Amino acid sequence: MRRFIAGAKCPQCEQVDTLFMDNTATGKRRECVRCGFHDALENLAPPAIPTRVERERAPAASSEPVRLVDPRKPV
Ligand SMILES: [Zn+2]
Repeated sequence: MRRFIAGAKCPQCEQVDTLFMDNTATGKRRECVRCGFHDALENLAPPAIPTRVERERAPAASSEPVRLVDPRKPV
């Protein structure tokens, strides 16, 4: 199933709204309908839900939520 990524810019042809996500046997990937660019999307895996109850006080840094950032996209 293809799902277009709103506002996403293709790193290759730099067009906006040409990228879609596709589920394959090996995982998600994104692909550009314009230039055929594609790459894997392992970065977009949902953040792991902590299943362990914190009995000890963990340092604050360890409880930082995982942020999903596309390294190609300027912040
Ligand atoms: Zn493209």
